[in-house]
Amino acid sequence: MSDVIKINDIDSSDCQRFDKWPFSQDFCVTCGLCSSTCPVSGIDNFDPRKLVRMISLGLEEQLVESRWPWICTMCAKCEKVCPMGIDIASLIRGVRSLRDRDKVPGILHKGLTAAMKTGNNLGLPQDDFVFIIEDVAEEIAEEPGFEGFTAPIDKKGANLLTTIHNKLVNTHTEDLKYWWRIFHAAQEDWTVPSDNWEGTNWGLFTGDDEAMKIMTGRIVENMEKLEIKTLLWPE
Ligand code: SF4
Ligand code: SF4
Repeated sequence: MSDVIKINDIDSSDCQRFDKWPFSQDFCVTCGLCSSTCPVSGIDNFDPRKLVRMISLGLEEQLVESRWPWICTMCAKCEKVCPMGIDIASLIRGVRSLRDRDKVPGILHKGLTAAMKTGNNLGLPQDDFVFIIEDVAEEIAEEPGFEGFTAPIDKKGANLLTTIHNKLVNTHTEDLKYWWRIFHAAQEDWTVPSDNWEGTNWGLFTGDDEAMKIMTGRIVENMEKLEIKTLLWPE
């Protein structure tokens, strides 16, 4: 813990600092269930129980500057076991939101900046995206039982629109095939948008509400534009 809070940090505590947050951090009974269930507890001394206590004490500067809030995976296991119903992951997201945006850890900051500009975290141009989608579809079409398979792009009036995780058009294109084979077997009427196809919302993970709304809004716009009522958002 010494890398996060110094002995004299307690002088800067202000127990009312986070009173306006809609969480019940002060109800923590320090039972430690959150720490026990957390998959990253112990990494760089990270401990959700201590983090909750620091929020309760109002140790804002120490928390915002520390690496702890960024070690959390946002899995929310801790919330499931907390007997006091404290929204620990949401609390941590709240701490993340207090960090200056240019100090958000590198890959998240760069990915979100790219997504705001281009619609996806990779900054992949639309032509390249369409090329990859069509290329993977052609590979499936060569498999027995999938003759003539195509990946419908921007299909108006389809039954289902699916978003895509950026790694599926980068390093894990094979994983696209599992989804698409299921669609084919189920005779699903599906489509993928050629623009703003990114399903990964790093506005959520970085505590950037505005970016989160923009990215979510783009998905809604795609659904309205293509007149589709059902969304598959496999994130
Ligand atoms: S949400 Fe964060 S603190 Fe809670 S269990 Fe998951 S990794 Fe740990
Ligand atoms: S599980 Fe809840 S009550 Fe128990 S230590 Fe963690 S935050 Fe506090």
